[in-house]
Amino acid sequence: MLLKSGKVITKLLIQTRKMHLLHDKTYINGQWISAASNKIFEVLNPADGSIISTVPDMDIEDTQKAIESAANAFETWKNTTPKERSYFLRNWYNLLIKNRDNLAKIITLESGKPLPEALGEVNYGNSFVEWFSEQARNVRGEIIQSSTTTKKILVEHYPIGVAALITPWNFPHAMITRKVSPALAVGCTCVIKPAEDTPLTALALLELAEEAGIPKGVLNIVTSGRKNAPKIGKLLCESSLVAGISFTGSTQVGKILYKQCSAGVKRLGLELGGNAPFIVYNTADVDKAVEGAVTAKFRNCGQACVAANRFLVQEGVYDSFVGKLVDRVKDLKIGCGFDSGVRIGPLINRAQFEKISNLVGDAVAKGAKVVIGGIPAPKIGELFYEPTVVVDVNKNTMLFSEEIFGPVIGIVKFKTEEESLDIANGTDRGLAAYFYSEDIKQIFRVNRNLEAGMIGVNEGLISTVEAPFGGIKESGIGREGSHRGVEEYTYIKYTCIGNLE
Ligand code: ADP
Repeated sequence: MLLKSGKVITKLLIQTRKMHLLHDKTYINGQWISAASNKIFEVLNPADGSIISTVPDMDIEDTQKAIESAANAFETWKNTTPKERSYFLRNWYNLLIKNRDNLAKIITLESGKPLPEALGEVNYGNSFVEWFSEQARNVRGEIIQSSTTTKKILVEHYPIGVAALITPWNFPHAMITRKVSPALAVGCTCVIKPAEDTPLTALALLELAEEAGIPKGVLNIVTSGRKNAPKIGKLLCESSLVAGISFTGSTQVGKILYKQCSAGVKRLGLELGGNAPFIVYNTADVDKAVEGAVTAKFRNCGQACVAANRFLVQEGVYDSFVGKLVDRVKDLKIGCGFDSGVRIGPLINRAQFEKISNLVGDAVAKGAKVVIGGIPAPKIGELFYEPTVVVDVNKNTMLFSEEIFGPVIGIVKFKTEEESLDIANGTDRGLAAYFYSEDIKQIFRVNRNLEAGMIGVNEGLISTVEAPFGGIKESGIGREGSHRGVEEYTYIKYTCIGNLE
């Protein structure tokens, strides 16, 4: 496959391969090692299909080694002081900042997202390391008054133990730091299983963690191709040495992990798929809504679990919203993430590309009309798909019921607020939701009635370290980030001191 900017990528590849952050080995128990089988798999650049590097294709035996390493390290790491753990995290953060540009380049190379977005992800991902370096010293217990004078009630937080973290490819940096940082902050050790499409960013993060002096065994990483992921996941869920699993990915895999964790009643955090409604009311500022729509939909080529998925526009502003949106979408430059001004990169892999083509095909077959886009962009590369707006979408289409994960906006017209809420809530997902209105009463009313864990009101970008990230219904269990993020990795111990005189 030939990409117009192929020369830029080749030059970058050569530079990247010289970078100390680029690893072709995995990090277990403080050592950079190959798989026991010596097997490897290729990491591809989705923009042009070129091979960036290879990494170990690990299996059960390697995973067991990683678990044992984390379990051994836990015995000492759990006894470090919050101040010490804060110090390690701060050291790591400082190195992440120093290496910001190179981390962003690796993200763009292996995920395809435009470089400015990759830099945005690095800043976002780094912010979790900084935040939890601060939170480490803020995990507080309590002393509760007993109903008798001879007893004292102590409540303390303890680290759960080894945390296994399974992460997706769409935010290869942030999805790791959002889990690792709170785990380390409270005294847990980790086994990380990054996505097969984007293991290089994960390895780069671990290189910097090692440089930051985080002791051996505290962080371990198991890279594997798609074929071994289920076996590795099963072992992580069923091992008695693992105390908890934190997973970000598809609802389908999340349900498998939930089942597997039930045998050992294991702690589980799940950040699963969304199906976010994006509602524009007659009361909206349409220009703001269009800007919000572009942000909430096209970041990372639509490949985000909080991406706006179902666009519901009230009839009074429908024509104006669609017209302005299409004008805006016309300006979105599609291309290689390293080219300047590019907003839309490639889809991550062939499966994702085919899914998008099928969703649009199905919607059109059931009566939807393509206003802009609706086609691949093979001249740019095999995994590129034009930013697309489709109107008159039938609610019985896959485009409307499934999580799209691509640069496609499907719009449905509605009449009343009640109808919009019925449609918005008519899904088994409940991660994010967005709506635009300038009517304060309507804002509170709709906010109260929308079934979602996170809501953007007149705002298309809601993810931030200070806020709790997570969903309801089949979108997940638990919250990441914010001061609550540490709760996923601690258990509460209540101690009753009795017979006090
Ligand atoms: P996607 O379809 O977007 O790739 P997945 O949920 O399949 O999302 O993948 C997210 C992460 O889960 C990746 O790291 C992947 O390797 C891993 N994974 C896939 N299948 C399983 C499984 N059965 N058990 C554990 N992890 C899995």
